[in-house]
Amino acid sequence: MELYDIAIIGGGPVGMFAAFYAGLRDTKTVLVESLPTLGGQVTALYPEKIILDVAGFAGVKGSAFIESLNQQLKLFPVEIKTKTTVTNVQKQHELFTITTDNNQSFQAKTVIVTTGKGSFEPRKIQVDGVESLIGQGVHYFVTNKQDFVDHDVVIAGGGDSAVDMATMLNEVTASTRIIHRRDTFRAMEQSVNVLNNSTVIKETPKKIVSVNKQVDGKLAITLAHVKEPDDITVLSVDDLIINYGFLSKNQTVQSWDIQPTHDGQVFGVNQQLQTSIDGVFAIGDASHYIGKADLIAVGLGEAPNAVNAAINAFDPHRGGPGHSSAMIIKNGHLE
Ligand SMILES: Cc1cc2nc3c(=O)[nH]c(=O)nc-3n(C[C@H](O)[C@H](O)[C@H](O)COP(=O)(O)OP(=O)(O)OC[C@H]3O[C@@H](n4cnc5c(N)ncnc54)[C@H](O)[C@@H]3O)c2cc1C
Repeated sequence: MELYDIAIIGGGPVGMFAAFYAGLRDTKTVLVESLPTLGGQVTALYPEKIILDVAGFAGVKGSAFIESLNQQLKLFPVEIKTKTTVTNVQKQHELFTITTDNNQSFQAKTVIVTTGKGSFEPRKIQVDGVESLIGQGVHYFVTNKQDFVDHDVVIAGGGDSAVDMATMLNEVTASTRIIHRRDTFRAMEQSVNVLNNSTVIKETPKKIVSVNKQVDGKLAITLAHVKEPDDITVLSVDDLIINYGFLSKNQTVQSWDIQPTHDGQVFGVNQQLQTSIDGVFAIGDASHYIGKADLIAVGLGEAPNAVNAAINAFDPHRGGPGHSSAMIIKNGHLE
């Protein structure tokens, strides 16, 4: 059976960077990802969004950020298995046996869990009939903003993602409205400033009471004022984008034989990012400790610490790390 130094389970941004760093430290590493492409939530949920809070980028489109991580990942040999879900992790005699849904088995000296919060799905709108209009003007995902050029668009939601989407799509739409049931938005202050200074029309505090397809193909969206229900507005628009956040399911991870101690829905870790099981580390959205924020920048910072701690676990005499600038790359290996 193939034996790796480190198995990284989950190919979101944090797993990708951890795999790169493990390559930089010249380990034999495998990165396993359920989906056909790497990038986790960024690729699946917001490839078009401009991410403002990763170091070194004065704003970067989600898809471009993941492409940069992909380029970085290619600097060193790391085996990547996509379309492969890890269905079990067992520990025997200080080695981990990893089993996948496509009947592969391999072993690793250490495991870094970067599964995020598991698979994700959008929180659904609770208005009769809307689900039947998905794909007919009603959307939960925006993968290409060019689909909305010159459209009249309504975005439902009041969080970061809804606010960012409204200002982003407003660059190409004929009109953009954002509907939120409160007067204030739950988004980063600067994002709200951008919204307030844009031409996006705010429909607050209002809620959607019905959505119907009209004969002209447009959507008729009826809004009611939250405090004065008789105050009704009817909008005729091309698209309704529902952005009420995401629900996550972690069932696959919960069925593994090894079950590190949880902190809430995810794994609790110590200062070395190690879970309650020796040799199993968890970083990114898959782990929690006091003060932790679920942000890409935080997970990227955890990745080198987890890789270095993993190396220390299976090879305590190796020492390091140095700085990458002090290392010489020859034929994809460090000297
Ligand atoms: C709409 C939205 C906007 C956001 N905007 C920002 C932002 O602007 N800035 C910011 O810093 N953060 C933002 N975030 C949060 C950010 O996306 C997450 O913190 C980040 O994606 C966490 O990365 P990760 O690699 O830990 O996990 P994820 O991105 O969740 O990746 C986990 C990966 O593991 C895979 N996986 C799960 N289980 C298995 C298994 N059993 N076997 C194999 N693979 C598995 C999944 O398919 C997934 O690809 C946003 C999140 C959302 C939803």
